[in-house]
Amino acid sequence: MQMSSPLQPNARKQLARLDRLLQRAYGTPEALLGNKADPLDEAVYIILSYQTDLARFGETWSRLRAAYPSWEALERAPQRQIERVLREGGLHRQKARTLKRFLASVRRAAGSLSLDMLHGLSDAPAERVLTRLPGLSWKGARCVLLYSLGRAVFPVDGNTFRILRRLGVLRRSAIYRRRSLHDALQDAVQPARRKALHINLVVHGQRTCLPVTPACFRCPARSACAMVGVSLEARKTGVATTTPPGTRSRGTGSGATNPRE
Ligand code: SF4
Repeated sequence: MQMSSPLQPNARKQLARLDRLLQRAYGTPEALLGNKADPLDEAVYIILSYQTDLARFGETWSRLRAAYPSWEALERAPQRQIERVLREGGLHRQKARTLKRFLASVRRAAGSLSLDMLHGLSDAPAERVLTRLPGLSWKGARCVLLYSLGRAVFPVDGNTFRILRRLGVLRRSAIYRRRSLHDALQDAVQPARRKALHINLVVHGQRTCLPVTPACFRCPARSACAMVGVSLEARKTGVATTTPPGTRSRGTGSGATNPRE
């Protein structure tokens, strides 16, 4: 049975227009997101980002690096100790367990604590290696490909999913945890614009199209937005709204909290 596309028929055009609007408003502030050039660093950074806002996981990253200057030191550390280091960042037990399993899997797959061998693989095999590692989804794998390996991929995080549903680029029935959704969106964005649009969408989700209280009244993409699932109050004032069907608000519950997964 053939599955219907998660995209609306005019998605490509909408994405191109959105790209222009967000680029004008935010200008691709890549440094703000703090992604890493080394693929192993980036993978750990992405694991720390799960269901946490940018400021918190940036601080958690700094604490982790201060406590464990090498990944070998983190590999040797007891899980309980890692949990204490990660405590302020949220989901500390889950993330400590995932990091231990992740590093053990990297060592098994690569023979050392390095993902440098990915440089020699093309996109699809590199993505397969990454998604087999504990803690990395398609989004996480594509972040490593994009930021550390310079590949023209389009990671779809929680911000992107929420915004594109509200805009009407995605069908209401679209499901985040389907590979077809990640692939269809990637195909719909020009390779040369994937990185910039991804960055601008993350920033838009952090500053304006917030999970619970989107600030539609001052939104640079307002003219292109169907505001699916957004209440009238939020359109006018940004003080109250409903969450689009199928989109969970994850994180600490604050309207300003934006999951990166
Ligand atoms: S108009 Fe509102 S719902 Fe649409 S993208 Fe902007 S902030 Fe989000």
